Amino acid sequence: MENKPTSNFLRNIILEDLKLGKVDHIITRFPPEPNGYLHIGHAKSIILNFELADEFKGKTHLRFDDTNPAKEDTEYVESIKEDVSWLGYEWDGLFFASDYFEEMYNRAVVLIKNGKAYACDSTAEEIRQMRGSLTEVGQRSPYRDRSVEENLALFERMRQGEFKDGAKVLRAKIDMASPNINMRDPVLYRIAHAAHHNTGDKWCIYPMYSFAHPLEDAIEGVTHSICTLEFEDQRPLYDWVIRECEMENTPHQYEFARLNITNTVMSKRKLKQLVDEGVVDGWDDPRMPTISGLRRKGYTAEAIRAFAREIGVAKADSVIDTKMLEHFIREDLKLKVPRTMAVLKPLKVVITNYPENQVEMLEAENNPENQEMGTRQIPFSREVYIEQDDFTENPPPKYHRLFPGNEVRLKNAYFIKCNDIVKDETGKVIELHCTYDIETKSGSGFTGRKVKGTIHWVDASQAVPAEFRLYEALILDEDMTDEASFLDHINPQSLGIAHGFVEPNIKVAKPQDKFQFFRHGYFNVDPLNSTNDQLVFNRIVSLKSSF
Ligand code: ATP
Ligand code: MG
Repeated sequence: MENKPTSNFLRNIILEDLKLGKVDHIITRFPPEPNGYLHIGHAKSIILNFELADEFKGKTHLRFDDTNPAKEDTEYVESIKEDVSWLGYEWDGLFFASDYFEEMYNRAVVLIKNGKAYACDSTAEEIRQMRGSLTEVGQRSPYRDRSVEENLALFERMRQGEFKDGAKVLRAKIDMASPNINMRDPVLYRIAHAAHHNTGDKWCIYPMYSFAHPLEDAIEGVTHSICTLEFEDQRPLYDWVIRECEMENTPHQYEFARLNITNTVMSKRKLKQLVDEGVVDGWDDPRMPTISGLRRKGYTAEAIRAFAREIGVAKADSVIDTKMLEHFIREDLKLKVPRTMAVLKPLKVVITNYPENQVEMLEAENNPENQEMGTRQIPFSREVYIEQDDFTENPPPKYHRLFPGNEVRLKNAYFIKCNDIVKDETGKVIELHCTYDIETKSGSGFTGRKVKGTIHWVDASQAVPAEFRLYEALILDEDMTDEASFLDHINPQSLGIAHGFVEPNIKVAKPQDKFQFFRHGYFNVDPLNSTNDQLVFNRIVSLKSSF
């Protein structure tokens, strides 16, 4: 079921290209810039590229688009590799754009020799002003007519480090009157005296994305270069670079709609801001839409892949509801993880007619929807913890949980009835005194009378203390696709912490182990902060789904 290909326009293009013999083997690539951690939007692109190649027995390259030294770092390179692997994909080659700097330089020289590129002394601001607009043609640079010899010499001197940052750029000589502004002599190279994570101080000129990217694709023999819609207007330039640089291979660029999700910002730049400003605890904070954050929260690669398949690829932008992502993790975990009991906000219950010092073991199913998961034994004794929210002194109508005089079932155990309340000096209820009815044992076939409420509990004598981290949306505004100042929309209540207890069976839970806690939802053992002495559970998702 997992690998059934979903039809989409990109797949149709590939099918056609193969049929017409335009390509023999397809090569796709995932080309992140190592300037941050990957997010769920990148996952969509990864899954798309790898699965298209897999289906047609092609290859997928993982290529670091590292042409901007100021923002890139090996920490990001490592995290990206880890995330792609974790999602379940093996790249057919690991590449760095920076390994092609010499070749790119040589291709720029080809352009200059053919009169297709020139050194320009205009400042960035002047270039911007002279570019024109949609209604106005651009103005030609006063440096546009430099001779080939002069341009070759200046480009060489740029490389040698003779000029300061910003003093000169290399520009393509295309058409200042083009209706496509991208074609109005775009900048191909800029000067940046900055150390690069891979090439160190070897270079002080760096290629611009729109020059570098098509060359990278062509050098690697990529056939289908898939990117997001905002690059659509750059396609003519992409083709121009490949053609004018006389590349042997001719990759083609195709655009699809980027993934946006409600209540989520999805750009490495913004996510980095959240990290740098301490809004979250790091790139892998479970509130982050990063792959590492989702993993730490408890998302599985299977769920993310299923989600990506379901949303498919489109040619028009849209915003996907977070509930849909949540739906897929519930579906993935439903039959896989054990169901146990945890009390997040404990209230002690003393069962006054239960023998002191007695502990009995009760049988409980591990997953009623999956019998193969078997049963377990849970202890029961004179004192148990229940949820504070499962008791009220003054019940509203239709309240079926515990209140004075009412009887409920303790799941997998007995009926108990509340007789007495113990309060502290502030009037807060701190303990309940109940009685149990031995006849009502779960599984005994008791039919004498019925109760309307079943509540969960944990035996106090063997309860294991645990911390529970309950997450809400990090961003309050549903639609964060615009550039609105998202820092004004941070949810101050995105993290709630509760201290309670879990069953003794899961004392030995390991990082990333997952459970369904009765009525509370799915939880993951936090890989960073959970220890044997203090278990920490991240809530992945609650049980209810309105999707
Ligand atoms: P960001 O603004 O988040 O840094 P980006 O596009 O600049 O995104 P890159 O590292 O350049 O990030 O992206 C690598 C690949 O991932 C690109 O091919 C890009 O099209 C794709 N990608 C990035 N964000 C999304 C998204 N939200 N949905 C789908 N694909 C995406
Ligand atoms: Mg980018």
